Amino acid sequence: MPYPSGRHFLQIPGPTNVPDRVLRAMDMPTIDHRGPGFAALGLEVLEGLKAVFQSRQPVVIYPASGTGAWEAALVNTLSPGDRVLMFETGQFASLWNKMALRLGIVTEFIATDWRRGADAAVLEARLREDKDHTIKAVCVVHNETSTGATSRIGLIRKAIDAVAHPALLLVDTISSLGSIDYRHDEWGVDVTVGGSQKGLMLPPGLSFNCVSEKARKASAQAALPRSYWAWEDMIASNKTGYFPYTPATNLLYGLREALCMLQEEGLPCVFARHQRHAEATRRAVNAWGLEVLCAAPEEYSGTLTAVVMPAGHDADRLRAVILETFDMSLGIGLGRLAGKVFRIGHLGHFNDLMLAGTLSGVEMGLSLAGVPHRKGGAQAALDHLAATAKVA
Ligand SMILES: *Cc1c(COP(=O)(O)O)cnc(C)c1O
Repeated sequence: MPYPSGRHFLQIPGPTNVPDRVLRAMDMPTIDHRGPGFAALGLEVLEGLKAVFQSRQPVVIYPASGTGAWEAALVNTLSPGDRVLMFETGQFASLWNKMALRLGIVTEFIATDWRRGADAAVLEARLREDKDHTIKAVCVVHNETSTGATSRIGLIRKAIDAVAHPALLLVDTISSLGSIDYRHDEWGVDVTVGGSQKGLMLPPGLSFNCVSEKARKASAQAALPRSYWAWEDMIASNKTGYFPYTPATNLLYGLREALCMLQEEGLPCVFARHQRHAEATRRAVNAWGLEVLCAAPEEYSGTLTAVVMPAGHDADRLRAVILETFDMSLGIGLGRLAGKVFRIGHLGHFNDLMLAGTLSGVEMGLSLAGVPHRKGGAQAALDHLAATAKVA
């Protein structure tokens, strides 16, 4: 392997590239998290985060990976034996389902072909049958990171409302928060699960629950055991900017800076940037003569593109060639997609030339690995970027 001079290209769909501004902001002495200086930081990030969820409800911050916040969403709202509906949109939905089963929740897991999002019409039909309201929650992964399909949560909400079903709506936004338009309040979501290391441009280590009034009421009755994840302890301490146990102080410095960056760019511009890079990426894939895994154009993800390998060619070998030759990491195929797809992350701290470099690396890799394709994908992406660039 050649000496890796220059920057590593971290083009997996999370963890993502951490901006220098965020790295510098975290380069601080650790302070007393019970001391007078801490509360201002705590209050600032707790308030600032609400904008990212497009919510006025409290956001709970855990020192945990996204998986922890999944668990928090379930154990705070549900009781052993409760029935929930989940959609098998891909590997992450499958893992959340597995967790629910381990916790003693009864799940109905609605299958898909792992090429699309959750189907609102199927949901509505199923809820309509549930006359006795035995279904306590509907769980959806907003952006399924294993497939690159984004479920339309507004339609999911409409389906629940159409039959006036009282189920809670729990949504995983770990790979869409701060990258794809997401509206906790407008869409009547009860618990939104987020993580730090994808669209929020932070290192791994923080995760979030944005919590509705209805979810807090449900938590007062919910009987699953919980202690570390208990919302009410958190929300009570958070009122004054503090935490019931030691928060990840230096990640909170980083979070403060990342929230500033998102605010400076403006969320609508952040969302548009991601859509534009996703579109350029799909143009490259089409020009190569390869297939985008997501089969529903209205559900194409803004944060990643999963690319199907031609039959008989191993995605992991392609990724290895690209890593060894060009020092770029691409996402693996997860679960049943292992070896069959590779995933290009185009989210977080990212711009046109980073995308140009990423797609050039993929195109050169396809040649070196002997994967049949047509030339000109990177060029097709450049053409789109140039045609849609905002000239200063
Ligand atoms: C990354 C991811 C997770 C898992 O998060 P961890 O931080 O690895 O625990 C869950 N759901 C989705 C949609 C993700 O993208």
